[in-house]
Amino acid sequence: MVNAAGKFGPYSQPGTARPAPGTGVLATRVLPGRAPTGAELVRSRIALRVRLESEAPGERLPDAGVLAEELGISEITVRRALEGMCQDGLLDRRRGRSGGTFVAQDWDTVVAAMHDAEEAAALDAVHLLLECGLVSHAAGEVPDGGLDGLRALVDEMNGTDVPARLLELETRFHLDLAETLGGPGIREFAADLLGRQCLLLPAPAPGVVRARNRHHADLLDELSRGEMARAVAAVKAHRHAGPV
Ligand SMILES: [Zn+2]
Repeated sequence: MVNAAGKFGPYSQPGTARPAPGTGVLATRVLPGRAPTGAELVRSRIALRVRLESEAPGERLPDAGVLAEELGISEITVRRALEGMCQDGLLDRRRGRSGGTFVAQDWDTVVAAMHDAEEAAALDAVHLLLECGLVSHAAGEVPDGGLDGLRALVDEMNGTDVPARLLELETRFHLDLAETLGGPGIREFAADLLGRQCLLLPAPAPGVVRARNRHHADLLDELSRGEMARAVAAVKAHRHAGPV
């Protein structure tokens, strides 16, 4: 039977008991029980593009038609979402021959003002569950060489001191992990969670990202040994990592 709410839902049914707001591991308002709206998708994917350094503050975004095709939604939805992001100060629209839609120069300042620790923590909890589930599911079944791309990212992170590059590689690691262990659909799911987080939390400091990278390396070692419990422990340790 086809699940009418999509392959990831529903996670809750009307009339069933729910935890009171602010209690439990997950805030119900961020549970992925429904697909993101077109506008939410545009916002989270543009935030992810900025984090992945596809476009830096001040740089021009691809045309709305290109974004619409990439995201599989209508161009008018993309245009409306970009308009909303301009009103929020995240993007700038410039007219004329060299015009278009640009990432705002003060992107980081605007994002800092949108800070919502509670929603970010709830998204982080969902992401943690996703990774614990993927790692449990895949431990002992990863083919030889299947983790090579992820190991290369860990090495690249160890080799750079550039804060923006560290953040880019940190995010890329988790997207690639989701795809390696769960396939392209799970990568999209992780992209939604991570992109939304980019708009809710200040970016972690370089020292934190470095500390997390040690847990990336541990995770890959344990995964390749098939040590499921230790691999899950590395995922959890990553979440609490701080600078040493
Ligand atoms: Zn990480």
